[in-house]
Amino acid sequence: MEVGKPEVTFVLGGPGSGKGTQCGKLVEKHGFIHLSAGDLLREERNSGSKDAELINEYIKEGKIVPVEITCNLLKKAMEANGWDKSRFLIDGFPRSQDNLDGWNEVMGDVVNVSTCLYLNTSEDIMTERILKRAETSGRVDDNEEAVKKRLSTYLESTIPIIKHFEELGKTVEVDSTGEIEDIFSTIETSMKLVEE
Ligand code: UDP
Ligand code: MG
Repeated sequence: MEVGKPEVTFVLGGPGSGKGTQCGKLVEKHGFIHLSAGDLLREERNSGSKDAELINEYIKEGKIVPVEITCNLLKKAMEANGWDKSRFLIDGFPRSQDNLDGWNEVMGDVVNVSTCLYLNTSEDIMTERILKRAETSGRVDDNEEAVKKRLSTYLESTIPIIKHFEELGKTVEVDSTGEIEDIFSTIETSMKLVEE
């Protein structure tokens, strides 16, 4: 770990790939701080801030919110958690080249991105999980039409980011089909959080 710099793991994967669930478990067992970009955006929307309406429109359409907004929320949340002594899981960001460029501009020199955890499962499973979650989530984008849009944004814009981190040797890919506990064990060994 570089001295004085927070260490960041980006957690990426399609909608319903299990990012939030597995981040929760990593927090519990391994002491990461979990920041979900989607959760921060929903919080900001609900606060009725000047960006609230814009954020809601982007989320409903499964489009990517302008990076200035998201990056600013992430930075504030990191600062609020204790900037320099923490290991952060940043879930659901960066979702596009534009997201990554915006992040690098502001955060490139002040944090160390060590890993991109990539949760990979099939489109059918992701869709099935989200439609199940829709029964209770109350999210404006948990419906069949929005899921299609979210999946296509993911394939078009986010997969290239995962590939980019792969080229840097930072992507850790885990098959996130199956049981939560099994997937978590695979994450723990793949990220070298436990002995194999
Ligand atoms: N979103 C965004 N930028 C981000 C994270 C989320 O624009 O960095 C928006 C985007 O519209 C996305 C929605 O918030 O479809 C929900 O994101 P979240 O990560 O919560 O959903 P998931 O990918 O887990 O389905
Ligand atoms: Mg999520």
